[in-house]
Amino acid sequence: MPTGLRACAGPLLAQVLGPDLSFTLSDGAETTVRKLSSKGLAERLLLLSGAARVARALRAPRLHILTYHNVVPDNSAQIGDSSLHLPVAQFESHLDAITEVAEVVSLGQLVTGGDRQTDGPRVAITFDDAYHGAMTFGVAASIRRGVPVTIFVSPGLLGDGSFWWDSLAGASGLTSEIRTHALAQLCGDVQSIRQWAVQRGLPTTHFHPAARPADEDTLRHVAHERLITLASHGWRHRNLNRVDDQVLEDELRLPLDWLRSRFPNAMPWVAYPYGLYSPRVTAAALRVGYAAGFGLTGVGQVQPIEWPIAINRYNIPAGLSASGLRLRLAGVLKW
Ligand SMILES: [Zn+2]
Repeated sequence: MPTGLRACAGPLLAQVLGPDLSFTLSDGAETTVRKLSSKGLAERLLLLSGAARVARALRAPRLHILTYHNVVPDNSAQIGDSSLHLPVAQFESHLDAITEVAEVVSLGQLVTGGDRQTDGPRVAITFDDAYHGAMTFGVAASIRRGVPVTIFVSPGLLGDGSFWWDSLAGASGLTSEIRTHALAQLCGDVQSIRQWAVQRGLPTTHFHPAARPADEDTLRHVAHERLITLASHGWRHRNLNRVDDQVLEDELRLPLDWLRSRFPNAMPWVAYPYGLYSPRVTAAALRVGYAAGFGLTGVGQVQPIEWPIAINRYNIPAGLSASGLRLRLAGVLKW
């Protein structure tokens, strides 16, 4: 049965709502609100009815590092791995939600704990992969609100026609069979995956330009912005858990050298591609010279956290409503 939230919701809410929809609260308790027409609507009601819990939760200090991938024009046709591509309006509603309930800081401020303004939640926003849409629509929306953003770049993929996970995604997304084979057997290596896809006769798709990797000029333009920080996402976005020692070294060292030689403000941080890492990978990252490393929850794997070389981030999928985001930032719902 539902816990506190249902009690807060009161009889009116119970009358109005339809079949039950369950949520896991941050303390592990299950709660249920009656389903309206969508999860997003139910989350809005949960937000309203749980005002006291939200207010309590907001007073507790929490750190959230959010990971977005791409931002595309509103009403774009379905693109590749669709959970990665947020329409502009949705991304802007997320920024509104974040700035409303949390103090937004740069990733560096969050990691070092410096310049603390409030006791409530603190959020840092990151983009993985340097999609062209993120570099244009996402960055523009963030700058308009004065929100700092860190972009994790795989320099060896800049200017490519697509990312493999988009081009091999069908109407219902990337199948787990393709994803598992590409990451485990083919080490997440784009050339090997493309060859395999051709041999297997797998259909590939072309997209809106916003869904391609940005080119170096676009990245250079963005990097001049005061609120933008660049950092590494591996050289060619390989699965670092599956490559040999030499490739591991190259995948980590090359982007660090590339960034340092072009962008004096780039930080010695790495977001492990696919959120995949192991003690061998984090040891190599430290050896090569990284000061911090970042994983990614919400992509199917829970990993050990070791500050500061294996810091957790939350993957924000396109399906997450602004209300759902608020509830998670407030600590009411689990990520
Ligand atoms: Zn990535």
